[in-house]
Amino acid sequence: MSPAQDPHPDVIVVGAGAAGAAVAAMLGHRGVPTVLVDPRAAAPPDFRCEKLEGHQVTLADQAGLGPALRRVSTPAGALWIVRYGRVVERRAVPQLDFRYPDLVDAFRGEVGGSARLEVGKVVDLRTGPDRQEVELEDGRTLRSRLVVLATGLSRALPDHLGLRREVCSPGHSLCVGFDLESELPSGFPVPALTWYPDRPDARIAYLTLFPIAGRMRANLFLYRALQDPWLDALRADPLAALRPAMPDLERMLGPSRRVGAVRVRQSDLFDLVDLDRSGLVVVGDAAGTSCPAAGTGLDNVLTDAVRLCQEHLPRWLSTPGMGSEKIASFYADPVRRQCRERCRTLAFAVRRRALDQDLRARARRRLVFAGQLLRGGLRRGA
Ligand SMILES: Cc1cc2nc3c(=O)[nH]c(=O)nc-3n(C[C@H](O)[C@H](O)[C@H](O)COP(=O)(O)OP(=O)(O)OC[C@H]3O[C@@H](n4cnc5c(N)ncnc54)[C@H](O)[C@@H]3O)c2cc1C
Repeated sequence: MSPAQDPHPDVIVVGAGAAGAAVAAMLGHRGVPTVLVDPRAAAPPDFRCEKLEGHQVTLADQAGLGPALRRVSTPAGALWIVRYGRVVERRAVPQLDFRYPDLVDAFRGEVGGSARLEVGKVVDLRTGPDRQEVELEDGRTLRSRLVVLATGLSRALPDHLGLRREVCSPGHSLCVGFDLESELPSGFPVPALTWYPDRPDARIAYLTLFPIAGRMRANLFLYRALQDPWLDALRADPLAALRPAMPDLERMLGPSRRVGAVRVRQSDLFDLVDLDRSGLVVVGDAAGTSCPAAGTGLDNVLTDAVRLCQEHLPRWLSTPGMGSEKIASFYADPVRRQCRERCRTLAFAVRRRALDQDLRARARRRLVFAGQLLRGGLRRGA
């Protein structure tokens, strides 16, 4: 029997989103018998992360997932930055743009070697210091030495296991996504664009536009209640609703039309707490969220995968047992901790920068504007 058919693998990964698929792909390449379980064979449509910046692409490379990521991505190439209505910088960026399901399926496509994907929904988990049992909805039971919980925002299994969710900022931010198509034969005159309104009354952190497969994708990050009537206007005609905060945007983009739905997602910031349990490790969004406006969810996802698979798991599997002291060493990992802390700090900093009205905040915005203007001028002069 090949390790990939082993009914009792070393590791069962529950949830094949970006985090679970990355972990299973890495373990499969390393020869660790692994089963990845998800209710769907292919990732469903979902509005989540749609771009990775340079340092995140480096993390994907460290995980061995860079080539798969590049195959489904459109490179942004260059990025224009707008502040106070002016283009202050135009610079080359190593940013990659994609639809989230394509990224997940690309990572799943890398699951091979000693790992395989099993389609099924996990309904129960029994964990302990030696053997773990995972029960699927169809009645099958899988056993392993370790379970990796990567079920994202779903509350069902963490609640079932009695894992407590500590929400540190409910309804922290909104993210809005929509597509634009250019009506110009030559396409959009801007490559990719990030617009900071620098007006706290707009309650907008920034709008970022980036190319995906011939269209311009828009991600707008803002701070409003989900019931705010302004969101109805935004859903009906996003560019018109943005006109007061970004008066020159339509001129800059040239004639364009919106295609498809306008999606709005609200994000809470939370952490699962008291995680040091025998036999179970939690990764990605399931362990705690970062704010989409900070653009750091994949920092957490990929850092978790890289640290778990390259640093901790090989050591854990080399000795008997899977006691809570092994699991605790993952959560105490300094690289992982620093990453999580940096993402959380950034989530609040981005919000503060967008909303603060005091003198200091205004001076800071002006300073950033001047710095970018100068850098942009120097680059043009070089
Ligand atoms: C609107 C939005 C924009 C974002 N933008 C960015 C960005 O620009 N940059 C960035 O870095 N991050 C961004 N993020 C964050 C990023 O998308 C997340 O951090 C990342 O997708 C989390 O991946 P995950 O694998 O942990 O969870 P998920 O992708 O949600 O995967 C969870 C998986 O678990 C499976 N599952 C659930 N329950 C079960 C069960 N009982 N049995 C088996 N399987 C189960 C699900 O089917 C799913 O496949 C954004 C998030 C949002 C919402």
